[in-house]
Amino acid sequence: MHQPHFLNAKLTDGSLADLTVSDGRFSAITPAANNSDSPPTGAIDLAGQLVLPAFVEGHIHLDTSFYGDAWRPHMPCTNGFDVRERVAFQMQNLEQAAPMEERAKNQLELCVGNGSLAMRSHVMVDAAVGLKHVETILAVREKYREAIDIQLVAFPQSGILSSPGTAELLDEALKLGCGLIGGLDPASFDRDVKGHLDVVFGLAEKRGVGVDIHLHDGGMLGLFEIEEIAARTAALGMQGKVAISHAYALGHISADALARAGEMLAASGVAVMTNAPGNDPFPPVAALRKAGVTVFGGSDNIRDSWWPYGDGDMLNRANMIGYRSGFYEDWELEAAYDVVSRAGAKALGLEGYGIAVGAKADFVALKAEHAPEAVVAVPKQRAVYRRGRLVGRDGRMAG
Ligand SMILES: [Zn+2]
Repeated sequence: MHQPHFLNAKLTDGSLADLTVSDGRFSAITPAANNSDSPPTGAIDLAGQLVLPAFVEGHIHLDTSFYGDAWRPHMPCTNGFDVRERVAFQMQNLEQAAPMEERAKNQLELCVGNGSLAMRSHVMVDAAVGLKHVETILAVREKYREAIDIQLVAFPQSGILSSPGTAELLDEALKLGCGLIGGLDPASFDRDVKGHLDVVFGLAEKRGVGVDIHLHDGGMLGLFEIEEIAARTAALGMQGKVAISHAYALGHISADALARAGEMLAASGVAVMTNAPGNDPFPPVAALRKAGVTVFGGSDNIRDSWWPYGDGDMLNRANMIGYRSGFYEDWELEAAYDVVSRAGAKALGLEGYGIAVGAKADFVALKAEHAPEAVVAVPKQRAVYRRGRLVGRDGRMAG
């Protein structure tokens, strides 16, 4: 049996440890034996590098990125950010893009190489593309199953009620293998909050799947939708299985309203995903965490029709989230790291996450004193291990 040993791993508490892996899980974590003169055969000496659990990419779009394809100049909206117009740009761009399978693989390998070994990808379903994207990404997921765990969200990119036939297609996508049902701005896109959420939560209940809704709607309108989502989650007993992605409204409202929303989200077990977007107010990470809300991170768009940024590095994302949140103290930097690791694992419901005996040996080794320094320095040199085997190095997939 292959039983990898890793020597001199620095844990987040600063101690040095030797790690033993059996059947892909940590079977022993012991104080470093300092036996560098006569290491066990085949042992890997991490030489004091910090070992962090593999990062969690909580929100990405594997079907729509142009990463590795030709550069596509960003097209601005005519009159401020408009989801409908952006979707139209996306449709135009996708017609000229490299095959989806190739683009998805480019993006996946980038993520694995940077240390994400679990991800949630939204995949477009609408009346125009039907189930084509879902079928392609399901096949890509199968090819990469040894490298990364991927959850797929059936995502109504063109709305549900606005795109007749989409509700049935979403149901088909869940039958094909998507593990979650998505949604998109029930108010501003479909102009029918109840109708939109009836379909989303109806399908979630019917198929026993989780929910992850894109919500860009701001201010009191967005807050109303957040309250509706939380109420339905609680009523259906779906605590821990529902997430709201973006939830910009939480960044627009007063401290009092935020406190009430945080309390409701925590009580109903609805998680919030943020990517710390460039020019939008976004959910206040520290206040929500303090209220007990699971706040997790994602790259969202990587070089696609929505924006040109994104590098598939969740440590860099933690840096952006910390920077935009005004995090300076160690405990705050630690929180930024948590958003892309433990909180992500909790939001995605991952089993066996962490550096602990019995946990899956999915980890990243890099040069940093501790997690706060890793968030600030974002060391690009790193080794990525999946079930104790090397799968990535310095931003590239290995093997
Ligand atoms: Zn998204």
